[in-house]
Amino acid sequence: MQRILFISDLHLSGERPEIVTRFLRFADEEAGRASSLYVLGDLFETWIGDDELSAPDGDALANQVVGAFRTLTRRGIPVYLMHGNRDFLLGPAFVEACGARLLADPTVSNVGGLDTLLMHGDTLCTDDRDYMAWRATARSAAWQREFLAAPLARRREHAAALRDQSETHKKEKSAEIMDVNSEAVREAFMRHAVTRMIHGHTHRPAHHVLEIGGRQCERWVLPDWYQRGGYLSAENGALRLFNLQP
Ligand code: MN
Repeated sequence: MQRILFISDLHLSGERPEIVTRFLRFADEEAGRASSLYVLGDLFETWIGDDELSAPDGDALANQVVGAFRTLTRRGIPVYLMHGNRDFLLGPAFVEACGARLLADPTVSNVGGLDTLLMHGDTLCTDDRDYMAWRATARSAAWQREFLAAPLARRREHAAALRDQSETHKKEKSAEIMDVNSEAVREAFMRHAVTRMIHGHTHRPAHHVLEIGGRQCERWVLPDWYQRGGYLSAENGALRLFNLQP
């Protein structure tokens, strides 16, 4: 039986140990019984460079997560990682330590026999122009080179400041701006010639059915893990959203 699991938006952080525990249990139990695991972005609340893994005062959380993924990949359960808007600096050292593979955003992947567009989802939120501008900057090689060249302590401060800024912005923006733009969704379906997409980011888990270009399409949105956490499973091609038990 093929059982592919999709998660995103865990926002793992040392400040919320209960979510870390929940993730470790998920990796051991649900993912341990899966055929493969896809993490579609925002695994971590912040990621400021792979040197966190080896720094003397480095991130214990990151090493725990690496351990959980490595257990899966060593048992022959492939783990696929995609960058989110919080952890887009996850680099080759992290990915390799996990035994995982990094997927581009977007990627079209065969899920239970159907070509499926996988994305983090932030690129669909085109109404949030401030965010789209910031994204273009932060994804540029020049910005990343400069950021990663700074000492870890400086990067930690910088990341905390960015996060506070982002929280303030979120409170000021309407709910519509923070959700996907329907034209961007339509455009993504058309451009990639698919009838199914899976993404996270908006923290609005759902199964949307829509008609695009005369074809019935479905958009699955993954749950975040701030409260309870959950995942999407594709079991022999049948998709279903699950909440984790509290
Ligand atoms: Mn996100």
